[in-house]
Amino acid sequence: MMDKIWLSSPHMGGGEQKYVQEAFDTNWVAPLGPNVNGFEQDLEEYVGENSKVACLASGTSALHLALILAGVRTGDEVLCQSMTFSASANPITYQGAMPVFVDSEKDTWNICPKALEEAIEDRLSKGKNPKAIIVVHLYGMPAKMDKIGALSKKYDITLIEDAAEALGSTYKGQKCGTFGDFGILSFNGNKIITTSGGGALVCRNEQDKQKAIFLATQARDNAPHYQHSHIGYNYRMSNIVAGIGRGQMEVLDKHIGFRRANNQFYQEVFKYVDGIRVLTEPTSEYFSNHWLSAVIIDQNKTGFSREDLRLTLEKENIESRPLWKPMHLQPVFEDCKYYGRNISEKLFEDGLCLPSGSNLTNEDRLRIKEVIQNLIK
Ligand SMILES: *Cc1c(COP(=O)(O)O)cnc(C)c1O
Repeated sequence: MMDKIWLSSPHMGGGEQKYVQEAFDTNWVAPLGPNVNGFEQDLEEYVGENSKVACLASGTSALHLALILAGVRTGDEVLCQSMTFSASANPITYQGAMPVFVDSEKDTWNICPKALEEAIEDRLSKGKNPKAIIVVHLYGMPAKMDKIGALSKKYDITLIEDAAEALGSTYKGQKCGTFGDFGILSFNGNKIITTSGGGALVCRNEQDKQKAIFLATQARDNAPHYQHSHIGYNYRMSNIVAGIGRGQMEVLDKHIGFRRANNQFYQEVFKYVDGIRVLTEPTSEYFSNHWLSAVIIDQNKTGFSREDLRLTLEKENIESRPLWKPMHLQPVFEDCKYYGRNISEKLFEDGLCLPSGSNLTNEDRLRIKEVIQNLIK
């Protein structure tokens, strides 16, 4: 059996262990320290827009804190893109709030601004006041942030950007994660940079960042003893993990280049194939990190389905994966409201993510190409 080709696997740059060693040498083996501060500073400089970043245990914990800072409480409603990973929606329920799911649009696969406005209007007409909007930049593709930002302003609803998959992506030259009132990042094992596990909350001001860090470190009041007037969490990032992050920041842009080259490769492979479309940037206003490259397969034209392609690749020890199954189709969210026109359902049926790691070799690409071309024949 040939070696496995993964969908997206960790890709170390070489500098990571230096920072981890420093943490050991100075005995900063704790959920705070110079690497945490350094990683936060690196991220603030990288995303720009005067962002203030708090490093946390995961992207999921970052979303949870964003919802708390947005004032989401028991009984509230939160609008959320349906087509996404469950981690975008789960923290809504941690707050005792209800997700209201919204469909995607065809060109970016992200939340449809039209469906979003319809959802807001309908909730308002029923006496509900949505507390927040969670928009996701799927597979690194920026959502239509000008329209979504305008709706958040028009209706005065806090905007939270799930940029877990989109570090380094830009819309109209501005980095994803810096458009909303809050943005979240993830450094989980398969993301564009990884710290083995971790995440960050991107804030618009220092005050929110300090509130997030306060809540993430058990909400300890200023006193010599342990004094608490709020419920806290243990959500801070460890100084060891942050060391890996500092090393990964040194190769982030290089790795984005590799992922974008993978996307170019798939565009070439499928260029003359009728019925297969690679997700690409709709206009030059969008810059995707192409965390994952994905295709939509029109079975009527190709004669095979996305599942046929997935199983064919699997036989050759090549990993691929259907797109995220929309949240409103998940058993755990079956009681939640949904606004849309079956775009996300159709994307899920026909879409497949292909191997997209920044460490894919030319050999890997040749193997993938051969398997795909054999199936097309
Ligand atoms: C990975 C991911 C998250 C969660 O991040 P963790 O660090 O794994 O908690 C949230 N949203 C999306 C869209 C993701 O892909």
